[in-house]
Amino acid sequence: MQPTILIVEDEPAIAENIRYALETERLQPVWHATGGQVLELLAQTPVDLIILDIGLPDINGFDLCRTIRQHHSTPVLFLTARDHEIDRVVGLEIGADDYVVKPFSPRELVARVKAILRRTQASRSTYPLSQSPLQPPSSDPQSFPFVLDEERSRIVYHGTTLELSRYEYRILKILIRRPGQIFSRDHLMEMAWEEPETSLDRTVDAHIKNLRHKLKNVMPQDDPIQTHRGMGYSLKEDL
Ligand code: CA
Repeated sequence: MQPTILIVEDEPAIAENIRYALETERLQPVWHATGGQVLELLAQTPVDLIILDIGLPDINGFDLCRTIRQHHSTPVLFLTARDHEIDRVVGLEIGADDYVVKPFSPRELVARVKAILRRTQASRSTYPLSQSPLQPPSSDPQSFPFVLDEERSRIVYHGTTLELSRYEYRILKILIRRPGQIFSRDHLMEMAWEEPETSLDRTVDAHIKNLRHKLKNVMPQDDPIQTHRGMGYSLKEDL
């Protein structure tokens, strides 16, 4: 079945270009010019990815993304027009998966879309049965607070399922597989990003900050991620 891509963009010419480029790559586009009906649509129709313009006539794309995130983990790729928007997207406080700056080449956009789909489909695929839903060999399975469920792309922490963006999920997955090992930002980026050279260093910091915040919400007294100044990040060994 062809992946369904929802385009939320108020400029018909841009939407049409995207639609054409997606169809060329055998992706199934659905276009909405406003954000108003998006939640309704998502409740009814399975969508594999959302291309979301930030400057919509009825709702700000950031707000819409935040609302979507409360109910759905559908990947979101932002279309952004201005520099100050990029700062916020790069901070990824709203849980977007990627962004493209206008004006963009439709081919590049579709390449990004396909990269995200590959990532999400890969993380949905099953892991070998011999591999348990994660207990690192070194740790005591009774006390280790994380459970990785790769089949459903989710991580449970102290019994609570974390609401993670794609990148947060990938970074935390890397850390909890090797407690105690320090990963540099470069290394984390290489492992978590499809095209590391297109991302910025500080996005790793932003994701770590978000992760810490989410982990603290579950267990306020614990801070399982350690910062190693000038070196990178690790998961505490003695959890
Ligand atoms: Ca617009």
